[in-house]
Amino acid sequence: MGSYDDLMAYQRQTEALAQIAGRLSWDRETVMPRGAAAQRSEEAGALHEVLHIRRTNPAIGDWLASASAQPLSQDGKAQLRHITRSYVRAQRVPGNLAAALARQTALSQFAWAEAREADDYAGFAPVLAEILALKREEGEALAAGGDVYDAMLDDYEPGAKAADLDSMFAALRPGLIALREAALGATPAPHVTGRFDSEAQMRLARQLVLVCGYDMTRGRLDKAVHPFSSGSGSDVRITTRTAEGDPFNCIYSTLHEAGHAVYEQSIDPAYALTPLGAGVSMGVHESQSRIVENQLGRSRAFTGWLYARMRDAFGDFGIDGEDAFYAAVNSLHRGFIRTEADEVQYNLHILMRYDLERALVAGDLAPADLEAAWNDRFEADFGYEVPVASLGCLQDVHWSAGLFGYFPTYTLGNVYAGCLDVTLREAIPDLDSHLAQGDMTPAMAWLREAVQRHGGLYPPRELITRACGFAPSEAPLMEYLEAKFGALYPAAHS
Ligand code: ZN
Repeated sequence: MGSYDDLMAYQRQTEALAQIAGRLSWDRETVMPRGAAAQRSEEAGALHEVLHIRRTNPAIGDWLASASAQPLSQDGKAQLRHITRSYVRAQRVPGNLAAALARQTALSQFAWAEAREADDYAGFAPVLAEILALKREEGEALAAGGDVYDAMLDDYEPGAKAADLDSMFAALRPGLIALREAALGATPAPHVTGRFDSEAQMRLARQLVLVCGYDMTRGRLDKAVHPFSSGSGSDVRITTRTAEGDPFNCIYSTLHEAGHAVYEQSIDPAYALTPLGAGVSMGVHESQSRIVENQLGRSRAFTGWLYARMRDAFGDFGIDGEDAFYAAVNSLHRGFIRTEADEVQYNLHILMRYDLERALVAGDLAPADLEAAWNDRFEADFGYEVPVASLGCLQDVHWSAGLFGYFPTYTLGNVYAGCLDVTLREAIPDLDSHLAQGDMTPAMAWLREAVQRHGGLYPPRELITRACGFAPSEAPLMEYLEAKFGALYPAAHS
């Protein structure tokens, strides 16, 4: 057979090994014996080395050159586009730079954890400066004369440009700040009281993943310190966590991860173990988790059903009636930590990280000045002061892990979710009557057809444009947030 088939057979094995690498990480976070850590890191290192050698194999270049001369289907062309993209990327980064980055990120994540523990940003600044210098070098190699930040962003959101995000995010910021101000000045929402048995939480979590259409015959739900979803095709696993005083942590982490996992499970099986067989970008992935968690899972209709399930599971927990429960689920309150933030303030967190990392990468902000810049921006957008660095610029692992260009995909995901939600509600006018019965089936079927089944076939922006019939914009998200939180905190519209 031709070069295309040879290339795809080779690619399939690489994808299979990459799935195994992912499953090793899942194992480490869930069931690995504590004493196995050192051996596991050697095992994972060996596998990653094999993957690196396969991905930079010059034979790929030869196959690509002859395969691109063959007549190919739409799927085949898309496969070549993905393979070319990652091959070119691997070629552009010199081997010694890739090795230096791997070494430095391992060291700096350790230094970050220590600095966070000690609330010592000054001690961490030189470490951040080193990782930033290496990432900038890598960005310059990848950009090949183009914009360095765009090259970093492209790793997580292929085709996205900082210039587009700039205008999207600038348009969101004033509205988000206004909603935050109104809510924090209003009467606080009711909150749950009591102790929530963690086995009962897990039973509810298992019910919730089925509501989202998650296929338990091709997945499993376990506990881990940090909730995540991993794998694709016929083995997509979810983890969640329980906190005895806060049942919403488990419920909404579970819905979020189920959104990610159902996306992977819903991709056309013909794409399994090929470059098209996974979610197309971080932003699109996050749109699928956020729409399940927020636009569907935190809706008035769905929370009405959830309230009854919670009463069944936990009895009286201090919330009287569905409206009070809806307000409790959607409470906006003060806080410093991104991962604990609500739908409004979460995006303020991301906008701030985006501006700061852009300034760091451009050289307009020195790592030594990051803490002061963070604290100023936080006070401007959130309205109160950051007391210690662990609640400020040391809270996220991302930068120490060399993840520059990653943060904006979270808000981009929310923006895409806003676009998809407005389209889906038009397509399914009685959606709320289904959600009120705890039935997400029509919504999930729509998402599967419009977005999920395509895997990597279309570039992210094109995929969302096809699904919605309009180019992605921040407007639907802002309208959704203003309608929802304007009603919950009426001062917002006074
Ligand atoms: Zn997510």
